[in-house]
Order: sequence, then structure tokens, then C-alpha cells
Amino acid sequence: PFEKSKGQHILRNPALVDSIVEKAGLKPTDTVLEIGPGTGNLTKRLLQAGVKAVVAVELDPRMVLELNRRFQGDPLASRLKVIQGDVLKCDLPYFDICVANIPYQISSPLTFKLLSHRPIFRCAVIMFQREFAMRLVAQPGDSLYCRLSVNVQLLSRVSHLLKVGRNNFRPPPKVDSSVVRIEPRKPLPPVSFKEWDGLVRLCFNRKNKTLGAIFKQKRVLELLEKNYKTMQSLQLTSDAEKVESRACFKEKIMGILQQGDFAEKRASKLSQVDFLYLLSLFNKAGIHFS
Ligand code: SAM
Repeated sequence: PFEKSKGQHILRNPALVDSIVEKAGLKPTDTVLEIGPGTGNLTKRLLQAGVKAVVAVELDPRMVLELNRRFQGDPLASRLKVIQGDVLKCDLPYFDICVANIPYQISSPLTFKLLSHRPIFRCAVIMFQREFAMRLVAQPGDSLYCRLSVNVQLLSRVSHLLKVGRNNFRPPPKVDSSVVRIEPRKPLPPVSFKEWDGLVRLCFNRKNKTLGAIFKQKRVLELLEKNYKTMQSLQLTSDAEKVESRACFKEKIMGILQQGDFAEKRASKLSQVDFLYLLSLFNKAGIHFS
């Protein structure tokens, strides 16, 4: 009676569950957030590892019942709290570390929800679909390097921990999986994430085009000029400064790209440091992406 729509694939290999728990590097003082505990195979090992508490968020009321039944009368239950609900919709409780075998359809929104949660956690050890995992860890020049890689790596250090074949699950999913470690950067880089994502989104829209070609597009120039004018009028600069023709604006943008030697570069090859530098050049010239 497992529901495909809820991504219910139960981990059936105890050795694998053990190695996930071991890789998490749990401390006795840790409050662990588990997402989608299902029937509780991972939950049980987390509790046995001797952490302070496990808070498990599970969408399916039948699974919550099953979980409560499993731990009924078990002394481990005193450190377990089960919350029934959609992890994407509920307020997350405090946690030091997140360990989870999640439903793959929520991978991206969940990752960003975790990374924007405060106070920031120490580390997350999460099972993802293999391709999503490879996107998370991809480096400039890798074929899977994309907006997701750049955005997640801005906020965290990501590493690949384990390859997991589909036969470790019941029922087996259609794809292989990987366990990934996500460690939020401390401190976080001093950039506005909205600005950053605005720039990265534009650059990866056509990731193999040169930035010169991307920023020459009429649609892009119009968007940036609109932002620019809004900012300028908010900052009450003189009328003379406000009056800039479209041609002039295009030159301004091309000038910024040339200044950092970016005009001939492609997003697929740019590193975090490159994007940070590019954003700072734009911002210094009053160009904004959000
Ligand atoms: N952790 C268990 C294991 O490893 O055997 C089950 C993992 S299964 C891949 C995913 C679990 O997440 C299912 O129990 C499913 O009901 C639950 N789930 C699906 N969507 C969810 C959501 N939005 N919020 C919380 N739990 C969800």
C-alpha cells in the first residue's frame, strides 16, 4: 500500500541505514530533523545512536500511525516527536542536523527551505535522486553544472557521500540515488540571495552562450534598465544622470562585462568567485537583478 505520489520508497538495507547514520557524525546533544520517516527504519537507528531528540515530519497519516505503533512502549519513544504535515508548508522546529531519505519530488524546494532556516543547522545528510545529487556537487565545466549547483554552493559546501542503487528500496524507484552532505557556510557570503539568483538565472538561461550575447538581448537590457531606473529614482540622482538612452545603457553593460573580462565567457565555466566578482561589478555600477 505504498503511495507513488508521496515518493514512498522504504529503505530495506540495514547496512546502508547504518552507514548513513554513521556518516552523519551525530553528537549526544543533537536534535535531529528527519523528513519523511515512513515506517521508521532510519528513525530507529537515529534514536539508537543516542541523540538528544529526533523530530520527524511525515505527510502521510497512515505512516504516522505506523510509526507510533512501532515505537509504542519502546523507551526510545521518549526522545521521538512525530509531526504530521507537509514539510514544505510547516514551520520547521529547531534542529542541529537533518538526516533524511526524502521523496524526490520535493528535493529542490526542500534544500532551499533548509538553507534559509534560522538558526542555521550544522549539517544535512540527505538521500537524493542520483542526477539531482550530481547537480548539487557539479563544478564549473561539468556537464551537470547549473543554476542549482551555483546557488546551493553559494550557501553551503556540498559533498557526495554514497552511491545507492535502486534495489536498496522497496518498492525500488526508477532511478538510482546518492547520499549527499550539505554543510551551510559560516558565515554566509555577504550578498543578497535574490540579487545573486537574479544574475545566475540570466547567465544560465543559455548556459553555453557567451555573457556578451546574453546581455545583448533586448529583453535582458529592458529588464536591467527598468531596475536601474527604479533604483536611480529612489536614490534621487540628478535628472541629467537619469536621462540615458537605451544605446548608452547597452554600452554601460558591455563596459562592465569587458572590465572583468567576462564578455566572451560562458556560465558553464564560471566559478563562485567569478559570479561574485561579476555581481560586484554590476552592483557598483548601480545595476541590480532583483
Ligand atoms: N524514511 C523512510 C525510509 O527511508 O524507509 C521512508 C522514505 S520515503 C522515500 C519518503 C517518505 O516521505 C514517505 O513516508 C512519504 O509519505 C513522506 N513524504 C512525502 N511527501 C512529504 C512531505 N511533503 N512532507 C513530509 N513527508 C513527506
